[in-house]
Amino acid sequence: MVIVKTAREISLMKDACRISANALELAGEYVKPGVSTLEIDEKVRNYIEKQGATPSFLGYGGFPGSACISVNDVVIHGIPSKDIILREGDIVSVDVGAFYNGYHGDNAYTFACGKVSENARKLMDATRESLEKGIEAALAFNRVGDIGHAVQQYVEARSYSVVRDFVGHGVGAKLHEDPSIPNFGTAGRGVRLLPGMTIAIEPMVCEGGYEVKVLDDDWTTVTCDGKLAAHYENTIAITPDGPVILTVAG
Ligand code: MG
Repeated sequence: MVIVKTAREISLMKDACRISANALELAGEYVKPGVSTLEIDEKVRNYIEKQGATPSFLGYGGFPGSACISVNDVVIHGIPSKDIILREGDIVSVDVGAFYNGYHGDNAYTFACGKVSENARKLMDATRESLEKGIEAALAFNRVGDIGHAVQQYVEARSYSVVRDFVGHGVGAKLHEDPSIPNFGTAGRGVRLLPGMTIAIEPMVCEGGYEVKVLDDDWTTVTCDGKLAAHYENTIAITPDGPVILTVAG
């Protein structure tokens, strides 16, 4: 069931989204060679809890971290670990959510660890830009397929691929609400976007093929071909005046 929020509910949700965005920005400051992904996770958790909020991911479906931290060929759901030490040239996707005043915010960003290869930089740029294209298509009374189509077209025009097995989602009082927001699809198809809907758009883009697999820890999701992947995400509100990004740091 698609949940449409009132302006007041969206305004409450902005606080959870701001905390999520600040936590993500903070995580980015610690993406440096020699830092473990567990250290970053601890910074994120401390920050969120200091705001009186709760890390949305901690314990969600049994997830052990407050952030998903996914390095290089890990697409999403990387489990923070003291044994995963960042190295110069890594690309590091951090996905973090916060629950505050009854609502969740959810956002992700792929950070460069030191100087990264030109290939990695291009993939990151294309993925970030594809998120922008997806958001631009999230106009009131458009359809979910318009978002997926915009993302997919932008990504594939650059010879990258879009993950099929994981998608964006509605977000609000629950971390994952209807509808699903695929990063692929047909323009003009799918659920209609209504003012008051709040959704997380989150393209996961692969340098090679889009096939992914989940490792034995039941979380870590990697590209099957071992090539790089990037992931960017914002929580946005559909409004009569166009999409509004809620996960803004400040
Ligand atoms: Mg999400």
